[in-house]
Amino acid sequence: MKEATSPVPIVRNDTQAIHQLYAQNVIPSYGRFDLALSHGAGARVWDMGGRQYLDLAGGIAVCSLGHANPEITRALVEQSQRLLHVSNLYYTEPQARLAEKLVKNLGPGKVFFCNSGAEANEGLYKVARKFGNAEGRFEILTALNSFHGRTLAGISATGQEKVKKGFEPMVSGFRHIPFNDLEAARNALSPATVAILIEPIQGETGITPATVDYLLGLRQLCDDHKLLLLLDEVQGGIFRTGKFASYQRILESEAGAAGFMPDAVSLAKSLGGGFPIGAFWVREPYSNLLSAGTHGTTFGGNPLGAAVALRVLEVIERDNLADRARQLGEWMKSKLLALCGEFPTVLKTVRGYGMMIGIELADNIQAFSGSEKTASIQFINKLHDAGVMAVPSGANIIRLLPPLNLSESEADEGLRLIRSVAQSLSQQ
Ligand SMILES: *Cc1c(COP(=O)(O)O)cnc(C)c1O
Repeated sequence: MKEATSPVPIVRNDTQAIHQLYAQNVIPSYGRFDLALSHGAGARVWDMGGRQYLDLAGGIAVCSLGHANPEITRALVEQSQRLLHVSNLYYTEPQARLAEKLVKNLGPGKVFFCNSGAEANEGLYKVARKFGNAEGRFEILTALNSFHGRTLAGISATGQEKVKKGFEPMVSGFRHIPFNDLEAARNALSPATVAILIEPIQGETGITPATVDYLLGLRQLCDDHKLLLLLDEVQGGIFRTGKFASYQRILESEAGAAGFMPDAVSLAKSLGGGFPIGAFWVREPYSNLLSAGTHGTTFGGNPLGAAVALRVLEVIERDNLADRARQLGEWMKSKLLALCGEFPTVLKTVRGYGMMIGIELADNIQAFSGSEKTASIQFINKLHDAGVMAVPSGANIIRLLPPLNLSESEADEGLRLIRSVAQSLSQQ
């Protein structure tokens, strides 16, 4: 087979022209940073002016094997030479093999493939509605400060006012409860309640993990009231925390958690290592609720996406990247905690698991007082100036979601750059 020729990077400083084209032609629904990116390799990205950045954002927990990974390229090329797409009216091998792999990692059940996280969550809502339909139950409880995607049902499920504003009325049948508060969940149940949906680690609002007691308590509550426990693993899944799913990591050494299983799990982001693919898994005996003709999507589980996701999972397993994410992530977390001690007027604390790290900034950072922008955005702008990329999570938390194959020297370099930013801010 002919090797794919690697793309020749075009490094021209026409950032201004790109900005102009966006301003004229792209719907301005995103607040964007002032970087126009050209190409990448591993954990590095270059902007159109040729400046290099260490990418600890990973496309918001997507590029789990880094940029321009040759094995992903090979899977793309090989599969595209066989079969890019056929509809779901037929069977293909990559979809079958990928489903088998996901079931192996989550437990006895079945998988549906889609194209994004919001769509994977839509599947969970439909499973829950189907489950409760005969009894007239339809209500899904979700957590405050959650994030479940930007479709109309997604923003209805999301427990943040800012995503709903201007789009009312919301899809009915969602109600929000405080996160990590089992009593509140119990008190919120109504005769119409059919499911509880949470992120085991809330990703968009500060990398906030569910407690062991909360996860186990919700499982019990759902069992007692015939509710489905739905987990959104779109951001925390695919070995980022050191286990396939983040709930598995949170519960891993808990004796009382043996046999814990959610009823359904949504996945996307890292699943394709940068290729858009989502999925949801439903456990037995609920995995046949969505019978023939009740759910579907044109592109879901197409051979190209499935072949790439399969390769991503094979590489993670072969190279033991789950353990690497766990160990390097814990090491980075300990170093970052030390920085909090060194620069307490800038950095408050650090939390997360593996390669899903949240750095909470100190309140009222002096150097940021003159701007309307959130502290997290101002901090990230400083990181960009220093040559490192990260993602804001809420108004005062910085997220690190690096590739799982980040090297120790890259991790060390990232920490040095973060330290230099914290140090200069502490002196202002
Ligand atoms: C990103 C994200 C989503 C939405 O995924 P999209 O692919 O952007 O639709 C849903 N839930 C969580 C937890 C996420 O992090």
